[in-house]
Amino acid sequence: MISVPLARPALDHAEVEEVRRVILSGWVTQGPEVEAFEAEFARFVGAPHACAVSSCTTALHVALAALGVGRSDEVVTVSHSFIATANAVRYTGATPVFVDVDPVNGNILPGAIEAAITPLTRAILVVHQLGMPCDLNAILPIAAAKGIPVVEDAACAIGSEIEVGGEWQRIGRPHGDICCFSFHPRKLLTTGDGGMLTTDSPELDRKFRLLRHHGMSVSDRERHGAREVVFEEYAVLGYNYRLTDVQAAIGRVQLRKLPEIVAKRRALAARYHDLFGRIREVGVPEEPRWARSNWQTYTVRLPSGTDQRRIMQRMLDAGIATRRGVMCAHREPAYRSEPWRCAEGPGRCGCAPGSCRLLANGERLQDGSIAVPMFHSMSEAEQRAVAAALEASLND
Ligand SMILES: *Cc1c(COP(=O)(O)O)cnc(C)c1O
Repeated sequence: MISVPLARPALDHAEVEEVRRVILSGWVTQGPEVEAFEAEFARFVGAPHACAVSSCTTALHVALAALGVGRSDEVVTVSHSFIATANAVRYTGATPVFVDVDPVNGNILPGAIEAAITPLTRAILVVHQLGMPCDLNAILPIAAAKGIPVVEDAACAIGSEIEVGGEWQRIGRPHGDICCFSFHPRKLLTTGDGGMLTTDSPELDRKFRLLRHHGMSVSDRERHGAREVVFEEYAVLGYNYRLTDVQAAIGRVQLRKLPEIVAKRRALAARYHDLFGRIREVGVPEEPRWARSNWQTYTVRLPSGTDQRRIMQRMLDAGIATRRGVMCAHREPAYRSEPWRCAEGPGRCGCAPGSCRLLANGERLQDGSIAVPMFHSMSEAEQRAVAAALEASLND
């Protein structure tokens, strides 16, 4: 029996009451509640524009489509991420060009980006992995020098902060051209499923709104409020990527809880550092001095040569849920043939299917790290039980 789950969303009667109100209002999808959520979200992260969509995966697709990424283009990104990052590139018809990650925190190596850029590169898609900000201060000048837009996959990073010009700023202002968030239950703020795009650009924001709503020229709100008959038109190929008003109502309550949830998780992470730091040869995450994580997921690196599956099974036997660390898209069957390449070009790196020596840090993190339970309501006793179970499993 599981006594400590991996995650637990911070939902209670406050969300239930708001959902009730919206259902009884008679307007249940992309309406006033979505508009209010967008405005409050924009204010929270410090962004001029926020556009809600159905998930972070659809946010990433919309972001790339709005930048004009399409067939025969390339997008520089990481393989070491949730598979949705690379999939979003493929939805546009473009080829993901994978670069490696830092061996400790799993974020894109800024120094590896330039070698992956070609005349076909249309965007750089970076990830704030597990909530830890990537090094935007190093990445953005590289992109700017080449005139290539940057999309941030901030699926996990709501409430995380980065130091820019001596000031702490929330992820999502955005620092790149577009920032994408997820509201899946594994993330800090959940609406069941849901996502958000933020940008400085009114032009990009306008494109997001077209693409999420079938490319339709007028919104339902505008048509509903009009005094005269309005005929819509479909200007571009769009999608149904709408967030519902029911979900937005949940999101608004969650947003109010967020500062407290982030503070709680930072305290939990500090205690975990202390507990795991005492276990010989176990590696803990390291926060660069310019970054503050929201600790969406806490992973530990196992001693080299440890059988990851065996440790996870022992912990499960002790009632502690764990997951593998972040996986690598290029090792999955869906990426076995062709649809990606590394910086050396297809076939030229001499790698076997499912493995690439240029992506070795990510592969090692996938095989050698585990995510341990982390949720805002976690007790000290639960954290101690997790650390004790890991230590016992390693000594077993
Ligand atoms: C969770 C996650 C996604 C996908 O988010 P959804 O809202 O489930 O589509 C994308 N990228 C990363 C890095 C994630 O962790």
